Amino acid sequence: MSSNPDEAARGRDAALAMAPERFAALGHALVDRLAAELGRLRERPVATGQTAAEVRAALGAERPLPRSGQDPESLLGEAATLLFEHSTLSHHPRFHAYIAASPAPIGMLAELLAAALNANVAAWHAAPMASEIEAQTLRWLAELVGYGVPADASMPCGLLTSGGSAGNAIAVQLALHAALPHSRVRGLAGARLAVYASDQTHAWLPRTLEQCGLGREALRSIASDARQRLSVDALRAAITADRAAGVQPLMVVGTAGTVATGAVDPLAAMAALCREQQLWLHVDGAYGAPAACLVGSPDAATLGDAAGDLAALALADTLALDPHKWLYAPIEAGALLLREPARLKAAFGAERPSYYGPADADDDGASGTDFHALGPQNTRGFRALKVWLGLRMAGRAGYQRMIADDIALAGRLAERVRATPGLELATEQLGVVSFRARPPGVDDEAALNALNRRLLARLQADGRAFLSPAAVGGRFLLRACIVNFHTTAADVDALPALVAELAATGPRG
Ligand SMILES: *Cc1c(COP(=O)(O)O)cnc(C)c1O
Repeated sequence: MSSNPDEAARGRDAALAMAPERFAALGHALVDRLAAELGRLRERPVATGQTAAEVRAALGAERPLPRSGQDPESLLGEAATLLFEHSTLSHHPRFHAYIAASPAPIGMLAELLAAALNANVAAWHAAPMASEIEAQTLRWLAELVGYGVPADASMPCGLLTSGGSAGNAIAVQLALHAALPHSRVRGLAGARLAVYASDQTHAWLPRTLEQCGLGREALRSIASDARQRLSVDALRAAITADRAAGVQPLMVVGTAGTVATGAVDPLAAMAALCREQQLWLHVDGAYGAPAACLVGSPDAATLGDAAGDLAALALADTLALDPHKWLYAPIEAGALLLREPARLKAAFGAERPSYYGPADADDDGASGTDFHALGPQNTRGFRALKVWLGLRMAGRAGYQRMIADDIALAGRLAERVRATPGLELATEQLGVVSFRARPPGVDDEAALNALNRRLLARLQADGRAFLSPAAVGGRFLLRACIVNFHTTAADVDALPALVAELAATGPRG
């Protein structure tokens, strides 16, 4: 006997089958619910302040796997309630943490469409249009940030990844293959290599050095200046010292928008040094690279003196950027762009799984791209769709406006922080503002750090705004990152007073 009325009439009784009419009714109900939730975000706290025990209790974390199923109508409603009541809401206008973007609604719908198609963007024949859309998306990303599109258009100019960490890691692998081709077969075999990056570089780098067997000791952490930008003199000195000691410099990693303070490294000078020293230059533009769309636009002034270095993105051998940050794509979407696309095929295309059939007869562009041969993933989701639809809906001009407005709001926040008694502004660059509470008479740095740590915990539990921390020069700071097109001037104006209020009501010292 069939227990699923949808399929009973058709023969097979599959527990997950759903008749089109029921799918439509469920989908409409879910979209209506989401529209209502998104419409009343301001009425919800941006974060709940609940403990892990409270969240686990709400979930019923200890419950065993259900033996039999439940109707999807009640399930989807329950899941939506569970999630909206126990989540930190990145699309809330007062969410300013972690450089996590507010997701574009069109991206949410794109995820549904992509899942419905279930394209496997591994083999062209498995996903012809999705593969072409990914290739076009990559080209548009390169155009948007001024990276330039390679003359050889027969291959995509990169690939989409799960995020910045994954894209950055592939760049290190490509640099390693370029410097030590034999390492692909023989491993590192005692090679002594060095990778140079500023002391502000994101944690992906030491992790990647461990993963590729280079080891953390290969990292040369170069001092940054008072504005958290890599010191080119210190970089040159470190390269010279390594060469003298018989260590082979492998690559230089620059950052366009550091995670702590939004600093843009002196990329133009770093590119010149890399050219002179014949070193691979990788730029981690995970969050900051999209701001390069403002270079040469009427809003270029919002970039301050970072404009010249953002223009130098075009000089990088490889560039990572995250559409799930400043391009407002729902998580996950990262990208790696590269100057010589053939290097990806050389790195990942050697072993062709037999189930994809023989390689197409030509590589001249007449046949489509098999993305599995360009990266470490085999089965690959259709990440491109949400990015592509966002780029089409907003266009270059739309992104320029959103990013310039985010940066301007961050500038406004910095001014308000400066004008608020008891608060001390630390940095303001590229949409990131860092500051701390500094009550009159408290001068001891350890006491200030302890006070601000407690203040941030209170703010995160309070629910009226959500910030994350940054550490700069041993100081514990509150960091607001405006990567959120829902945030308004009024939201920004309310923040300093809220922080000052919480600082005044909390325990001192
Ligand atoms: C976010 C970020 C990363 C890591 O990217 P994921 O997408 O989180 O993997 C690396 N570098 C910088 C500068 C970032 O902002």
